[in-house]
Amino acid sequence: MRKTKIIATLGPSSFNQETISGLMDNGMDVARINMSHYNEKIGLDKHIHFIRDQAVKYSRTVAILFDLCGPKIRVGKLKNGSITIKKGNHYTLGGTNCDIPLNIDLSFTSHSSGGAVKVNDGSLSFDIAEVEDNTLKLSAHNSGEISSGKGVNFPGVKLDLPSLTEKDKRDLKLAVELGADWLAMSFVRSANDYGTINKELERVGASIPVIAKIEKPEAIDNLGVIIDSFDGILVARGDLGVEMPLKELPILQKKIVNECLQKRKPVIIATQMLDTMIHSPNPTRAEVNDIANAIYDGADAMMLSGETTVGEYAVESVKMMDEVACSIDKDLDTRNFNRYIYQERWRIQDFRGSICHAAMILSNDLSINNIVIMTESGLTAMKMARYRPKARIFALCTNEKVCSQLSLIWGVTPVLVEPYSTTEEMIQNTGSLLSDLEFVDKGDLFIITAGVSAGVSGTTNMLKIHKVE
Ligand code: PGA
Ligand code: MN
Repeated sequence: MRKTKIIATLGPSSFNQETISGLMDNGMDVARINMSHYNEKIGLDKHIHFIRDQAVKYSRTVAILFDLCGPKIRVGKLKNGSITIKKGNHYTLGGTNCDIPLNIDLSFTSHSSGGAVKVNDGSLSFDIAEVEDNTLKLSAHNSGEISSGKGVNFPGVKLDLPSLTEKDKRDLKLAVELGADWLAMSFVRSANDYGTINKELERVGASIPVIAKIEKPEAIDNLGVIIDSFDGILVARGDLGVEMPLKELPILQKKIVNECLQKRKPVIIATQMLDTMIHSPNPTRAEVNDIANAIYDGADAMMLSGETTVGEYAVESVKMMDEVACSIDKDLDTRNFNRYIYQERWRIQDFRGSICHAAMILSNDLSINNIVIMTESGLTAMKMARYRPKARIFALCTNEKVCSQLSLIWGVTPVLVEPYSTTEEMIQNTGSLLSDLEFVDKGDLFIITAGVSAGVSGTTNMLKIHKVE
């Protein structure tokens, strides 16, 4: 059973039942909806219902992640659809009358000097020669073509932008209506952004865990407090690799993943993991190694975007990621993943953490392959996952939403159960439930943790080794 989870972004290549079924059959744990490219014609509700129905039919859980695009700046409508850029020439950028218009009005008044402009994932870059109120005069660093809708980044330029745009607010409401399990917030810059999005969630009467996408230098500066505040972290290598020097990306990835492990927050690695497979049935050796290294770093999940949204081999990409992850998962050991992890740093001061730690030690020492966690809020299962035991983690929960959310978490297989009235009943039933689901055989051992007053969140105080009868 694979431990590192797979997120597949849905898009034109995959918004159909055949492909969605293929993605699910081959290992998609989380379906990501990228609101950057949302329009009503997609018929999102229909696709989400289909995913939920399939999940019930095949007794598995899949989470739905809505990614709010934030203040993403793009090239606006160009006169002929594109413009040819020549190295050394000057261009204006800003309002509709500029050579390169933008999709939103920007004010550059708080910017004094320096900085750069990068277009289309950084493939074209410009120096800033002059600054006027709403216009930048640029000098081209290289030659190429720019077309409408391409992404624009301003590394080293302070822009006065809202964290949550009006579009984000509308998209958040839609996410709530369609029952999103997770939200992702783009271009997070400070821990306060969590308050901003939560205020909006409260306003519409919802509570959904939020993942911060780390893709701005400001987020790196405030990394510790952002990880503390948010419910999860996504290493958004696409924009991060444009906003920061590309050569620093591997170090940043390791630093972010490490800090998430220390703070026990879920972490996702995203972008270009199997980029070649957008047009080819085969990945490069480097891409296979990239997947492996994300797993060795300690990621909970890996994300596909272009591969499954516009790719010609969407299902094959998930299959490839699944195969590589299964192979690397087997080699994973707390001694060889993430070079920064030291056991002694894991200071454990609470019942939950201590019992999970003990379950990890017991299962590793006794080669017990199954840990069962009774969890109301999902938190104990997440805590268990942070210790990266060799055993599989079965999270038994009575809440469907929590089950779906846990699909994102490393090593966790969520199982929806009816509430139990006594701990004895729960332990007895767990053995038969897991064998009915063909996860265990007669005679197999499992470690079970629970709160002795069954069904109350935050009361984990029991650990038992049990044999399937
Ligand atoms: P995006 O985020 O796909 O929404 O841009 C991921 C990234 O920047 O890597
Ligand atoms: Mn991005």
